[in-house]
Amino acid sequence: MSVKIITKSFPQGKGYDLQIMDEKASLQDYLEALNKHILEAELTRTRQKVNKCEGCDGCCSERIPLTSIDVYMLQQGLKPKGETKTLAEIIRRYAYVQAEGRVVDITLARNEDGKCVFLNPDTKKCRIYPFRPLVCQTFICCPVSSRARRLRETVVNQGEDQLVKWCLSNIPWDKLFNEVWEPEISLADWEDTPFRDRFTYGSVLIKDICKPELWQQLYLG
Ligand code: SF4
Ligand code: SF4
Repeated sequence: MSVKIITKSFPQGKGYDLQIMDEKASLQDYLEALNKHILEAELTRTRQKVNKCEGCDGCCSERIPLTSIDVYMLQQGLKPKGETKTLAEIIRRYAYVQAEGRVVDITLARNEDGKCVFLNPDTKKCRIYPFRPLVCQTFICCPVSSRARRLRETVVNQGEDQLVKWCLSNIPWDKLFNEVWEPEISLADWEDTPFRDRFTYGSVLIKDICKPELWQQLYLG
């Protein structure tokens, strides 16, 4: 076990903490450990009375930032369902791209009712569950330790930054944005991250994503 999720009591109820046991642990190890915990652990879901996620859509109307690997996984996952699209087409169809000043935000698109485009409104289940975005795979509405929260934020931010850079480099800007507000966008603002040229979460090491201070807090080597 290279990523250990630990159920822990917090003042608000049962939540989780996280430790990295192997310096070669990848983001896929992180996702697998958390997905297992989502299904099996007794956690205090602060947004619903039953302690399980199945059949709940309480977090499927929120902002879901996308990483570059999420978009690739979506492209690959939709192929067997008969949807063959380029990455640019996936972004134009399923993402919402906003710019305000120098900031660019790429999130999963939502329907007019504010719910995610991949939510089945009848069953309240995700239609792309096995390849849903990293943000969905790593969210549980329970208390979380500060180091676990910081790891999640770091991963999401770097993955989204790489996606923004890819989009600004590969999609004409007049076709990219759904919404712009006083844009001052510059490609030079986005540096490469460990997500560059990576297409699977198994190929990105957690150690490469973390700043030394965060890594020291997480790694028990
Ligand atoms: S994490 Fe989301 S799906 Fe799970 S119980 Fe909380 S609001 Fe519902
Ligand atoms: S991708 Fe699935 S889990 Fe994520 S917000 Fe959409 S419906 Fe919910």
